[in-house]
Amino acid sequence: MRPIRPGDRGPAVTEIRTVLSALDLLGPAAAPDADDFDAHTERAVRAFQQSRGLSVDGRVGAETWRALDAARWRLGARTLYHAVPEPLTGEDVRSLQERLLEMGYDVGRADAIYGVRTSRAVAQFQREVGLTPDGTCGPHTMNALRRLGRKVVGGRPQWLRESDAIRQSGPTLVGRTVVVDPGHGGTDPGVVVPDGPLRWTEADLVYDLASRLEGRLAASGVRVQLTRGPAQRACLPDVERAHLANSLGADVFISLHCDGHANPAAEGVATYHYGTDNGVTSATGERLAGLVQREIVARTGLRDCRTHAKAWDLLRLTRMPAVRVEIGYLTSPDDRARLVDPRFRDTLAEAVVAAVQRMYFPIERDVPTGSIDVSELRAVVAAGTVVD
Ligand SMILES: [Zn+2]
Repeated sequence: MRPIRPGDRGPAVTEIRTVLSALDLLGPAAAPDADDFDAHTERAVRAFQQSRGLSVDGRVGAETWRALDAARWRLGARTLYHAVPEPLTGEDVRSLQERLLEMGYDVGRADAIYGVRTSRAVAQFQREVGLTPDGTCGPHTMNALRRLGRKVVGGRPQWLRESDAIRQSGPTLVGRTVVVDPGHGGTDPGVVVPDGPLRWTEADLVYDLASRLEGRLAASGVRVQLTRGPAQRACLPDVERAHLANSLGADVFISLHCDGHANPAAEGVATYHYGTDNGVTSATGERLAGLVQREIVARTGLRDCRTHAKAWDLLRLTRMPAVRVEIGYLTSPDDRARLVDPRFRDTLAEAVVAAVQRMYFPIERDVPTGSIDVSELRAVVAAGTVVD
């Protein structure tokens, strides 16, 4: 076909202008339904060609026409499937791929082509939300994507940016804000275990641990904020703890708890990060949880009850990597004997500082678990601060 070029008139030009206008390329002064290939049209065609990696000549030949045709599709306007041998292409395919990528599905690159890999990712998504995994994106799948998309959009892309920002920011902790959240407090003591004339409470133990952590982080140049004092009147709800961390612009949020169980044999440490049953997860939250969990297990020998994804308010509403650690069972005689020892709580604080530090090491420079000497680190930081 002969390229449609500046000076041409007719319904084909109107069609081109309509698509360019919908893409916000035509400019507000130009009427999309006009039928002449004027200077506005030419400029818009060039911008479009540039944005799609096509050769920029300001004319609409076969290649540019196909790209324009693909660009008119909005996600949800048609059913998408893996067509053979001529695969479906379009902006809707690209939007779908970007959404799947944000949710952690492997579609390769968002290339706007509905190929095998995209179809497989759609099938995986369908299986996880309980739909027939046929790899075809029709109305039901679109509804499921919209439903989940609301939860994910704003969350996941932000987390990706976050982990990028962390990687680019270098290994220093100086100037970061860490919010440490000792669980419970006020009228809520958390787990309570009588011990002769004494009475151990989760609220008191995690507050003590939080202040040890505060001291160590502050010594590393971190701004630390606790979500509560040692003896406040009311217990702050988790929603408000999350809002507090957001309003402080925290870089990391760490909530400290101990566990309790009717069976005294239950013991160990577990760390929780944001995530849902559908495999949606906070990538940086998950990484921080893994580091905290591994550092604590390596340094204390507490039983490894692993990391888990939860959609709790505290983890869902915080806009920074956030974890909740359940450090030991107060109801386990073994765990309790260790938790009530202040030196053990010092070791726990060191483990959490090492984990937070490792968040800021570039991935390729990360170190083996249990190997960071926090006091050495402080010396390095102190030396760095003098130079500054
Ligand atoms: Zn608790």
